[in-house]
Amino acid sequence: MGAKILVLDAGTTSTRAMIFDHEGRMERVSQADLTQHYPRPGWVEHDAAEIWSKTLQCMRDVAGDDAGDIAAIGITNQRETVVAWDRNSGEPLARAIVWQDRRTADFCRQLHEEGHEDIVHERTGLLLDPYFSGTKMRWMLHHEEAVGAAAQSGTLAFGTVESWLVFKLSGGHHISDASNASRTLLLPLDGAQFDAGLCDLFGIARHALPEVVDTQGKLATCEADWLGTAIPICGLVGDQQSATIGQGCLAFGQTKATYGTGAFVLTNKGRDVPHSNHRLLGTVLSQTDGNRTYALEGSCFVAGSLIQYLRDQLGLIKSAAETEELARSIGDSGEVVIVPALAGLGAPHWKPDARGVISGLSFASGRAQIARAALEAMAHQTCDLASAFTGDDAPWTSLRIDGGMSANDWMAQDLADILDLEVERPEFVETTALGAAICASVGAGLYATLEEAAEAMRGATQIFIPNISAETREARLTRYFKALSVA
Ligand code: ADP
Repeated sequence: MGAKILVLDAGTTSTRAMIFDHEGRMERVSQADLTQHYPRPGWVEHDAAEIWSKTLQCMRDVAGDDAGDIAAIGITNQRETVVAWDRNSGEPLARAIVWQDRRTADFCRQLHEEGHEDIVHERTGLLLDPYFSGTKMRWMLHHEEAVGAAAQSGTLAFGTVESWLVFKLSGGHHISDASNASRTLLLPLDGAQFDAGLCDLFGIARHALPEVVDTQGKLATCEADWLGTAIPICGLVGDQQSATIGQGCLAFGQTKATYGTGAFVLTNKGRDVPHSNHRLLGTVLSQTDGNRTYALEGSCFVAGSLIQYLRDQLGLIKSAAETEELARSIGDSGEVVIVPALAGLGAPHWKPDARGVISGLSFASGRAQIARAALEAMAHQTCDLASAFTGDDAPWTSLRIDGGMSANDWMAQDLADILDLEVERPEFVETTALGAAICASVGAGLYATLEEAAEAMRGATQIFIPNISAETREARLTRYFKALSVA
């Protein structure tokens, strides 16, 4: 048996396959873009057959003739997206409904009005929002004829994207790992399997759902048909949980923030089942031998997309990276403040109707002030989240950052300054894929624990130390919260 790990990273805009060695070095990568289908405003769909065929092609590209060197496969994936397929034919029954899709907003509102939110939040850690999988499954059952018919005949299989890929790779094993299952609204945070009462509330037959399994272990086997040799599937983990593991946030209180299109923050809560009083989400981080580690999660919808907006809509900058030079060219933003609520406000406010604000404009406010205010907004909204985490007894001990926007050194330093915390950034930024490699290494027995694997596989990091006065920090935050109150 070899000691390489094959990681499949089935994301939203692309799917990728990567080969890692047991010290966490990425040796090869192959990537294919996925077609995005937007049949109506607010609807987002994927073709599950395309996800499978492109993922298979990528894994064949990177494995080449060396599949014998691969000890295990780890899969990480876009979470919440729902696939419906026929167990007998193994073919999709409808387009997959993607996590961004808002078509079930009315049903969520109805459940909310009927008073179900508190109990759902208490049991699953989630909120009644179209983002999560449960209402998407219900929609398919009611509106996709083939899905309804398969439910009647007992051949329907529902699953998130890792579940779909495992079914195809293993020749019909129907499983979902606890980190992905905890995003469906159907899994109690402290329950081993999907819950009958929750399934009834959302109108989903339990027999259509996968068995919930660990995030690492001998979970299934990729049949020899695909790479010429059978390979165990030893890691399955949703993308944000995977990034948390890839960042080595394995002790209570350790926190990572991913700054991509949006910002996703997860804090390790150890063995405590999380209960938020500040509208954060509770989620499963990992599961070994049925024992779970949990995380609290908070997401901001707009992060890097604000920079794209300055570039593409306002034409203020030519490239995202230019914001760094502009921010450094001035001593402060001249009191310009941006609240990046262009797509509503996520955690901890959850105000879908909120809109963006630029305040404090004067005749002295130019491109540099606005670009700097846009970067400053990342620290401000992260600080707002930090207060919610502290309120929920999960204060951050440091912040580990990743995602495309984290390449901006000025922003990384500003985060440290405003949060008054050390900010750590890995040199190898593919933390999502690394997390799946870590899980699969442990599952394959190459390392005894996630901690041991993370220690061996995480590379060097750079640390940003807070370096501003308390008065400057206070003044910045006061201006931000004033602007936030009118968003
Ligand atoms: P996603 O995975 O969500 O597609 P990425 O992690 O690839 O996103 O990050 C891309 C986002 O980061 C873009 O929105 C882009 O505007 C922003 N970004 C990339 N580089 C920089 C930079 N140097 N400074 C500021 N923003 C950046």
